[in-house]
Amino acid sequence: MTRVITVASGKGGVGKTTITANLGVALATYGEEVIVLDADVAMANLELILGMEGKSVTLHDVLSGDADIEDAIYEGPGGVKVVPAGISLEGLRKIKMDRLENALEVLVERADILLIDAPAGLEKDALAAIAAAQEMILITTPEVPSISDALKTKIIANRLGVDILGVVINREQHDKTFLTISEIETILEVPVIAVIPEDTEVSRAAAFGEPLVIKNPKSPTSNSVMQLGADLIGEE
Ligand code: ADP
Ligand code: MG
Repeated sequence: MTRVITVASGKGGVGKTTITANLGVALATYGEEVIVLDADVAMANLELILGMEGKSVTLHDVLSGDADIEDAIYEGPGGVKVVPAGISLEGLRKIKMDRLENALEVLVERADILLIDAPAGLEKDALAAIAAAQEMILITTPEVPSISDALKTKIIANRLGVDILGVVINREQHDKTFLTISEIETILEVPVIAVIPEDTEVSRAAAFGEPLVIKNPKSPTSNSVMQLGADLIGEE
């Protein structure tokens, strides 16, 4: 059975796309057939982080009814397969999120794990990405506004019957003003499954269009993502 896992947060800018890209590559290096799908159709940047912008067929074309999803699957770095959303404003005009479900049926046939990079917020596009998966990873920074938004996303996911695998705390900085792991677990009532440090190399890697787990595989940040991938699939 293919696992469909949405990477969601609530608040924007907390690291969903960064973690989806790097986790996708991590899982592919463990030998899994992985597709990462950029479901953030309005603010797409998975393809930028993976150095894959400018593809001719994207999810925009599929959701506009102008292309088949098979033609929007591309070979990405480290053996991960990627469905880019498309970054043009023009491409957004005709999309219908209702078409996502049919596209996902095809993707599920072609992967062991489908990772979905969700939009922020709880609008229609975010709800479609949440409802599309059986499992969810919640991303938050250790700050109160981010955790508060993650809580709302968690409640919606629970209502939709999505199994929340755990919380990933991103951009951790050993700063006493931040909430601790146990405080975050208490607020969200979900276990913390990874802690990813603040790392200036993350934005540098993004600028190069190369995932950090490939560009800088021995860094603590890459190690945390690799370990998260291993834990998800029960690797040693
Ligand atoms: P989202 O998809 O949730 O909006 P992104 O993955 O686009 O978030 O990340 C938002 C910004 O934060 C980007 O500029 C990214 O480079 C930066 N970022 C993400 N994770 C880290 C980290 N662990 N350390 C430093 N910067 C990070
Ligand atoms: Mg994003």
